[in-house]
Amino acid sequence: MLGGVACAGMSSPTLDQILRSPKVVLHDHLDGGLRPSTIIDLAAETGYDRLPTTDPDELRPWFVSAADSGSLERYLETFAHTVGVMQTPDALARVAAECAVDLATDGVVYAEVRFAPELHVTGGLSLDEVVQAVLAGFRAGEAEAASAGHQIRVGTLLTAMRHAARSLEIAELSIRYRDEGVVGFDIAGAEAGYPPTRHLDAFEYLHRENAHFTIHAGEGFGLPSIWQAIQWCGADRLGHGVRIIDDIGVTEDGTVQLGRLAAYVRDKRIPLEMCPTSNIQTGAAISIGEHPIGLLRQLYFRVTVNTDNRLMSDTSMSNEFAQLVTAFGYTLDDLQWFTVNAMKSAFIPFDARLALINDVIKPRYAELRAEAAFAAAGAAAAGSGAALKP
Ligand SMILES: [Zn+2]
Repeated sequence: MLGGVACAGMSSPTLDQILRSPKVVLHDHLDGGLRPSTIIDLAAETGYDRLPTTDPDELRPWFVSAADSGSLERYLETFAHTVGVMQTPDALARVAAECAVDLATDGVVYAEVRFAPELHVTGGLSLDEVVQAVLAGFRAGEAEAASAGHQIRVGTLLTAMRHAARSLEIAELSIRYRDEGVVGFDIAGAEAGYPPTRHLDAFEYLHRENAHFTIHAGEGFGLPSIWQAIQWCGADRLGHGVRIIDDIGVTEDGTVQLGRLAAYVRDKRIPLEMCPTSNIQTGAAISIGEHPIGLLRQLYFRVTVNTDNRLMSDTSMSNEFAQLVTAFGYTLDDLQWFTVNAMKSAFIPFDARLALINDVIKPRYAELRAEAAFAAAGAAAAGSGAALKP
């Protein structure tokens, strides 16, 4: 249950407070966050005729149920449709602009949004044209959000598909656009059978270029995938990383024992890009209440909260936070901790990260705490019959 504010920062925030809190997302897929109405518009404009329905009220639940079905085929079909309508510069720019606006409306002040350029060339675009269209879309979306009173900065991550063989090419592409908004690189796709070490040349190239990257690891596959991502590939962050829990033992008396890999991840402050709702859909976690994020937060791992695929998971940053608040009783202090963790772990320069933490995130959480304290004092005064003067 949300609500029942009693003491600033120490009790569960309301949904309204969560919506208004400044948020940071580091793991959000561009092709996983389209508006259903936009998919239908773009399908009509580009002649894409394979959508299961052209009714937006039916399309949204179709995406969620397909992603929920437990069938990999149906899950992948959802991306066939979103990627299918994102094959022209206009379509890519529109989706990127709407992504920025939707995140900003949800209170996100900094986002890193990723996509795989190699999936958007079937209409004849070059990789460069794909990236240029998306970057232009993000800039347009930031401007539109700002004009509506929502400041957001969107960094772009370029993803290479781990089953394909274009990772070095995509890594080079990310460096080509590093001064125009591409802040990092990622590999995604099926983990089992496609270890990150297949792409060592791309990671070594990025190291030589002093560039940042994250790797989807420890979601569908366990500790070896996480270990390779960190110790062989040198990833700055872990996409999901939820299976790090397999290297943590908890005895009946509550004593916690970290294995060497888990200890390394915590000691080195390696950020975990956790995506609770998505993890339940893919079976990487059983429920929000049993999600490893609860223990990892208690143990002070560098945990961040993310959306992954907002359309398929019918989620938002506010929804992820709200569910965690319900499951674990998190307070505004906890939400600020997750948010500062994410901002510290972003791939933009240190001074820009610090400015967002000190000038935006901390002051706005302080305001929310003050507001909650005032409301709690008011409730207490009303309860005791005393008049409260502002
Ligand atoms: Zn992902």
